Amino acid sequence: MSRSQLHRVVVLGAGFGGMRVARQLARGAKSRKLSVTLVNRTGVHVYTPAFYALAGTTSDSARHRHLERAAALPLRRLCKGLPVSIVEANVTAIDAKLKRVALGDGRSLSYDTIVVALGSEPAYYDIPGLREHAITLKTLADADKISRRASALMRGRDKPLRIVVGGGGVTGCELSAMLAETVGTYQAGAHITLVEGSSEVLPGFDEATRSYVRRELNERQVMVRAGQPIKAADESSVTLQSKEAVPFDLLIWTGGIQVPEIIDTLPYVLERGRIATDAPLTCVPKAGGPADLHAYALGDATYFLYGGKAAPWTAQVALQQADTVARNILRVLDGKKPKPFKLPKQSILIPLGRTGGAGSLWGFPVRGWIVQPLVWVAEFRYLASMMPWWAALKLVSRRIK
Ligand SMILES: Cc1cc2nc3c(=O)[nH]c(=O)nc-3n(C[C@H](O)[C@H](O)[C@H](O)COP(=O)(O)OP(=O)(O)OC[C@H]3O[C@@H](n4cnc5c(N)ncnc54)[C@H](O)[C@@H]3O)c2cc1C
Repeated sequence: MSRSQLHRVVVLGAGFGGMRVARQLARGAKSRKLSVTLVNRTGVHVYTPAFYALAGTTSDSARHRHLERAAALPLRRLCKGLPVSIVEANVTAIDAKLKRVALGDGRSLSYDTIVVALGSEPAYYDIPGLREHAITLKTLADADKISRRASALMRGRDKPLRIVVGGGGVTGCELSAMLAETVGTYQAGAHITLVEGSSEVLPGFDEATRSYVRRELNERQVMVRAGQPIKAADESSVTLQSKEAVPFDLLIWTGGIQVPEIIDTLPYVLERGRIATDAPLTCVPKAGGPADLHAYALGDATYFLYGGKAAPWTAQVALQQADTVARNILRVLDGKKPKPFKLPKQSILIPLGRTGGAGSLWGFPVRGWIVQPLVWVAEFRYLASMMPWWAALKLVSRRIK
């Protein structure tokens, strides 16, 4: 069959959501006369939870343990043997009328069905100096930069190292705990300060988890400054709302995410800047009318209301949404109605350093040393869904050191 007779699905973004959609569709591709194209800016699928191990260790140790290999997985290897075409390019425009995607290298791709899974990028909320002076933890390059900068600053230094982490959500708490353990091992008296704008770390979490995490951070000598939004940053200090200046040698910003600019150009309804998908995760035209059964969006780039609350922006939700999107694309092709996405009960694990942590599994609280092994099991299960189990085990074992 020629490609022109196939229904062309183009998936934008090969992160958690996009990769899962492409893999699920590939299974139904032959029997459905379907072609699947996965477009991503880079040739790798990035496993973000591995960033903590990389950022929170010395650059020598990261190099020695090849930690970057556990965080950046080559797309071609993950899609080996699957009927998925991989296009490594930057998406620069989406013309929903002509059903065409423009790429940074001048090429364009036509589609019959599109899946937007372009994720998110750091949000700086126009805080003066923050973008210029802070490192974020959103890409592999960021994680590597944090590890190198911290290692360089520790080398041959007699004054204690001062690190400020802005943003006391899950990322800020996990990173602070990891850095405190690593830096503390090499340099007594190092100061790690975690600054959070709301009145407590982990906004949105239950009180028991928040106070447990706060205690664990205190035990690791992380100074928590909650209720103090960062108002400005320069090359050596951040200014808090109270006007107090907190000096740093290294500033890391984990305080927020926003969607890539390209999302604004889409002719679909947005909510708080994100694509507002309806129940089956289809996009709703701005011009009015019913949802487009050939345009889907998922993950960090979307705003999905479920039970009156926005679904969290996590890999877990992106994966769950991806299963629904793939199923609905196949259903529509089979002439059936798409089914609504149902948000399952979320589990969350927040490892704190190598031996601590908190979270919940299917609603049951988990605390302490058990959290880290549970994270490794979750990581193994995820990786083993895309590669042979022994390869997944090898990758996970790099971090168990
Ligand atoms: C340090 C860190 C740790 C985290 N840990 C966890 C965790 O333990 N558990 C959890 O559930 N969640 C975790 N998250 C959140 C999780 O990573 C995100 O929620 C998840 O990645 C969202 O998936 P997605 O498919 O929407 O987007 P992403 O996974 O971000 O994928 C988007 C993809 O689109 C590509 N892309 C973007 N723009 C373009 C463009 N213009 N052209 C081409 N390609 C483009 C990107 O390169 C990327 O590959 C963590 C996040 C961070 C930063």
